[in-house]
Amino acid sequence: MRGSGPKPDRDSGAPGVAGEPRLRVGVLASQGDFAAHAAMLDDLGAEATEARTAAGLAGLDALVIPGGESTTITKAIERDGLERAIRAHADAGLPILGTCAGMIVCDREHLGLLDASCRRNAFGRQLASFEADLEIDGIGPEPMRAVFIRAPWVEEHGEAVEVLARVDGHPVVVREGAVLACSFHPELTDDSRLHALLMALATGVRERAASSGRSTG
Ligand code: GLN
Repeated sequence: MRGSGPKPDRDSGAPGVAGEPRLRVGVLASQGDFAAHAAMLDDLGAEATEARTAAGLAGLDALVIPGGESTTITKAIERDGLERAIRAHADAGLPILGTCAGMIVCDREHLGLLDASCRRNAFGRQLASFEADLEIDGIGPEPMRAVFIRAPWVEEHGEAVEVLARVDGHPVVVREGAVLACSFHPELTDDSRLHALLMALATGVRERAASSGRSTG
């Protein structure tokens, strides 16, 4: 994580400007580019934590499943017994952002958090890596520079899955409720709008919990 020194305005668990504790966002750190995600979340004001154990996945406001290699990440989830904790997070309506291999890990054939099937390495050998400017629904009109590395696309999906962006007609950013997924690596540019959207969803969950707590006394 960026900056090891104390940050007076961002002490762990300290109230933020609005008097609320910072959002705790876990980055699944089994494999892949978790440090860059954590740095981005930290810059957005979250308390980013690298999650490697079931205990580390508990009590999070949101979770990022990063890119890497979906087979390796899947094996690590099995080896470390993390599936139950990830499922409990999802079942509680807490948001998840799956990126690249993390998108694959969320699909029907893996954790089943998204009613979608992904095609691995979908853009083929010629297009193993490329960049594109994507207009993504829900993050504003400004296109986002997206870095695709041996990226998947969504091959097929159910009605509850909203497609937020496509490349050549193929869905590359999708959302189903609190589960967001993208085919590219948003941690490799300075554009943190998808991470900000994840945090906005988490703030929404927190606010709903607070207001239902108030209304029930
Ligand atoms: N090709 C990888 C897979 O199928 C994903 C690549 C990535 O995350 N950059 O798991």
